[in-house]
Amino acid sequence: MDCLFCKIIAGEIPSGKVYEDELVYAFRDINPQAPVHVLVVPKAHIASADEITADNSAAVAAIFAAIPKIAAAEGLTNGYRIITNIGEDGCQSVRHMHFHLLGGKKLPESMA
Ligand code: 5GP
Ligand code: ZN
Repeated sequence: MDCLFCKIIAGEIPSGKVYEDELVYAFRDINPQAPVHVLVVPKAHIASADEITADNSAAVAAIFAAIPKIAAAEGLTNGYRIITNIGEDGCQSVRHMHFHLLGGKKLPESMA
């Protein structure tokens, strides 16, 4: 499968890894939109959050168990934001589900 994030997870494309466990990989966004901008992804290919099912949701639980650890390691003691874009209207540009972890500054109040 020709998937950018699958290649990053496999180490075929270099990335700034910040966290890894059995189910989860996290790395710095190449075009950061905040002082801390990490992408948290399942190692298994799931196209978007719209593809989450009872069969693959263990990866989602693992992602959300990893996020507080990553946030703490990044020093985000005053809060942060998690965003996942889905499909065309959500402006999802990479079709491997990813959660943006944004922080390190007071983020804009508007989300859309
Ligand atoms: P989306 O727009 O799909 O929600 O987010 C995709 C994110 O992936 C963007 O924030 C973009 O900067 C990031 N991105 C795209 N290509 C690469 C890459 O090759 N390496 C890294 N680290 N991030 C990437
Ligand atoms: Zn993939």
